[in-house]
Amino acid sequence: MLSLYIHIPFCRTRCRYCDFFLVTRKEHLGAFFDALAEETRAKADMLRGRQIKAIHFGGGTPSIAPVASISGWLSQLAGLASIDPDAEITLEANPEDLDPVALAELRDAGVNRLSIGVQSFSDRKLRALGRAHTAADSTRTVSEALERFDSVAIDLMCGAEGEGLDDWEGDLAVAMGLGVPHVSAYMLTLEEKTRLWRDVRQGRVELPGEEVQAAMYGLARRMLTGAGYRHYEVSNYALEGFHSRYNLASWMREPYLGFGPSAHSFMVDGGVEARFSNAGSLTRYLADPGHAVDFREVLTPRQRFDEEVFLSLRINRALLLDFLRQGHASEPQRFDALLAGFLEKGWISLTGEQVTLTEEGFLFADEVAGEFMHG
Ligand code: SF4
Repeated sequence: MLSLYIHIPFCRTRCRYCDFFLVTRKEHLGAFFDALAEETRAKADMLRGRQIKAIHFGGGTPSIAPVASISGWLSQLAGLASIDPDAEITLEANPEDLDPVALAELRDAGVNRLSIGVQSFSDRKLRALGRAHTAADSTRTVSEALERFDSVAIDLMCGAEGEGLDDWEGDLAVAMGLGVPHVSAYMLTLEEKTRLWRDVRQGRVELPGEEVQAAMYGLARRMLTGAGYRHYEVSNYALEGFHSRYNLASWMREPYLGFGPSAHSFMVDGGVEARFSNAGSLTRYLADPGHAVDFREVLTPRQRFDEEVFLSLRINRALLLDFLRQGHASEPQRFDALLAGFLEKGWISLTGEQVTLTEEGFLFADEVAGEFMHG
C-alpha cells in the first residue's frame, strides 16, 4: 500500500503568516501539469504494481487548478498503479475557489474528501491573518461542501492578532454547529521572514502570549472532545471514521511518494528506509521534472528511532518502555530522570510497559519527543 502527495505550489496571494513553497503567478499552471505528467512517467517504476490507498493534493492552493488537470493526472495514475476503489482522495481548497459547480466537478473527477482552509468564521480575524476570503465565504463554502461530500475537513487557526478566547470559542462553535466531521485546530506559529514575522519584530503587531495560546489549545480540546470528536493528533480532531488516512499513514511511517516542487517522499524497500525530496524551485522543476529529486538519504538506526518517537507521540501511539530504554542505552540514568520528570509533571502516563502522553501532555508532545529523541 502506498500514499501519494502532490504539491501544487500556486496561491492567489500569500497569506501574512505563510512560509510554504509557492508562487502567486498562475501563468505557469499549464506548464506545471505538463511537468507533473513527466515526473509521474519518470516515477512509473515506483508506482507500478502498487496499490494506492490515499492521494492528497496539497499546496499552495490546489483548488485554483483546473479540475480537468486534476482528473487528467488521476487518469494517468490509474494507467500506472492500482488505485484502491476505497482510496481517500483529498484536495485542499480555499473558500474563495469553491461554488456548487466547482464542488460538483471535483466530485465527478474522483475527489472524495475536501480539506478547506477556512481558518476562521470572523472577518476581523481573517483580515488579521491576511486571508483572501470573508467569513460569509467560510460559512457558505462549508455548508455547500457538506451537501456534496461525505468527508469534509476544515483548518481553523487560533492565536491571531487581537484574538481572545471568546473569538476562538466562536470559531469552534460555528464549525461544530455546521457538523464538520474533521477539524484541524492549529496554533498560529510565527515563521521567519514572513510579513507577520516582520510586523511582530518591528512592534506593529502583538500576538497572544503563551498562556493564552495554551488556554486556546485546552478550549479546543474540551469543546471538540466534548462533542464526540476524537483527538487523534496534536492538532487534529475527527468524528469516528473521518480521520485523514493520508496524514495518519505518514505519521505511522507508512510509505508515501511525493510529486511537485519541494514534495517529500518516504519509501521502504527490502527493509531499507529512505527519505527524499524534490527541489523547492518551480523553475528547476519545470526545466527537468523527470529528475526532480535533489535530496535523498537512507535512514540510520538513530534516525529511525528518533522518527518513531517523534511521530508516535504526535498521534499518541504508545511507545514501549524497553524501546525507549534501548535508545538511551548509553545514558540509563539520564533516561530514568527524564521519565520520572515527565511523570511528575503529569505529561506522560505509564501503563505496564506502555508510555503514552496524557491529555495535558499532548500540548507538550514536541518537548517530550525532543528529550526522548536525543538520548
Ligand atoms: S492559502 Fe495556504 S498555502 Fe496559500 S499562502 Fe495562504 S496559508 Fe499559504
